[in-house]
Amino acid sequence: MNFFIGLMSGIATALGYARLTERIFSDPNKPPWISEYYVRSVWLELAGLYSLPANPPFTEINANADIVIVGGGLTGLGSAYHLKKRFPDKRIVLLEAARCGYGASGRNGGILQDFDNTLLMQLYEKKGHEAARRYFKVDEQGPKLVRTLIKDNNIDCDLEECGLIELALDESDMKKLTKYHENWKNLGIASRLLDQQEIRQEIMSERYYGGLHKNRAAVLNPAKFALGLKSVLETLGVEIFECTKVVSIEPGTKINVETEFGNIIADALILATNAYSHKIGYFRNRIFPIGTYIMATQPLDEAHMASIGWKTREAMFDIRPECNYFRLTTDNRIVIGGGVSPYFYRNGLSSGNYKPSLDRLESDFFKIWPQLKGIKITHRWGGTLAMTLDFHPTIGVTGAKKNIYYGVGYSGHGVSWSQLAGKMISQLYAGEDSELTRFDGITKTPPYLPPEPFRKIGYHVFKKFFL
Ligand SMILES: Cc1cc2nc3c(=O)[nH]c(=O)nc-3n(C[C@H](O)[C@H](O)[C@H](O)COP(=O)(O)OP(=O)(O)OC[C@H]3O[C@@H](n4cnc5c(N)ncnc54)[C@H](O)[C@@H]3O)c2cc1C
Repeated sequence: MNFFIGLMSGIATALGYARLTERIFSDPNKPPWISEYYVRSVWLELAGLYSLPANPPFTEINANADIVIVGGGLTGLGSAYHLKKRFPDKRIVLLEAARCGYGASGRNGGILQDFDNTLLMQLYEKKGHEAARRYFKVDEQGPKLVRTLIKDNNIDCDLEECGLIELALDESDMKKLTKYHENWKNLGIASRLLDQQEIRQEIMSERYYGGLHKNRAAVLNPAKFALGLKSVLETLGVEIFECTKVVSIEPGTKINVETEFGNIIADALILATNAYSHKIGYFRNRIFPIGTYIMATQPLDEAHMASIGWKTREAMFDIRPECNYFRLTTDNRIVIGGGVSPYFYRNGLSSGNYKPSLDRLESDFFKIWPQLKGIKITHRWGGTLAMTLDFHPTIGVTGAKKNIYYGVGYSGHGVSWSQLAGKMISQLYAGEDSELTRFDGITKTPPYLPPEPFRKIGYHVFKKFFL
């Protein structure tokens, strides 16, 4: 009897604890799926997505396709592009739960840049110059690929070649930038250090101590890019279904893909669901979703622009792990993102409207430019991106029949890495032996993540002590 009472109270405590932690550590606005919530993103609005009709959902039963792509973000769209170009006669079907570009791909900062400094520094320190050089040689192809894709297909997505400045907040950040500068020089990347006076002339903010400028970055409207790519694909003959949630995948020589309304049997599947992959059973303990937030101001008039300088219009970010990044739009809004990026309990997804992080971001904005007090923040939104513990993108092929391809976990560099992943996936599918398919700088299986509550606690410890 005592044992029974003990057991029951143990179960009740465990259930209560799980409920409590879930309640404390979740985004209260969080509905279960991306397709079920609304975000007010300036990119989606400028791209016209809110007024464009969605493609009809997939309703066929027992249909067949050569390749099914799950997810209509930049990875799914990029993979479809390279696959269709290479195999024009294959039936390629893309299934998207919400709208193409409605995930991180249409909501991000739109900063197109190569390499992640943290990753590059890690490679330098742990594996030496040659490993860093090899990584960089592949990594730098991503932005080139995006530019070529835009040019070859006349995609109107407000691409602006503006360069980038990494910002120091204090002397110790400046030491890091000086180190980056040296490493970049060794890799043949031109960059220029800016002292306090130079950076304050450039950005007219008292907040920054110095900077490191490189020419190699651009900005674009990511939603226009995604929607432009979608229409290129439709012209090429890729079949795109929206409002179509894949609910299960049965692997095998023939893969059965069940959607809410029908099913399709495919010879190969591309998993392009990034931070949402765990919802259909993939990468549950290998990648973790992070909520990240962003906002846009009203278009600035000449007087406001004059008060902040920024004549050369570079994209900028400071080098803290939870940095602020910002850029201008073609109509002179400031888009600023970053700040507190929460991990929600049990791989929870964010609605994109998580108020604590958005309020903090708004207050950061006015600390950077107090002279802009009074201007309106017209849009506040966010999204979910996927991180790996080693920061490496994860691209490869899985399944007993080796016919499920994936590209996930770009750790915040997905505008370019999604397109590299698309190209890699098309080469893996083709069985090609190439520089990309042989590349060892990506992980096929990212490091294992501990179970809850250690994952949640670990995230905070990791952020505090190791980043
Ligand atoms: C606020 C924010 C700012 C960012 N800023 C930058 C930046 O400036 N530069 C940069 O390089 N990167 C940035 N990133 C990261 C970048 O946006 C992502 O790495 C990239 O968009 C990932 O693309 P994806 O296609 O893999 O994933 P997503 O764009 O998330 O696409 C996944 C798609 O899969 C769909 N899906 C999920 N589950 C299912 C299912 N079961 N059935 C059907 N469809 C499904 C979703 O609806 C979604 O459309 C940012 C991300 C965020 C959120």
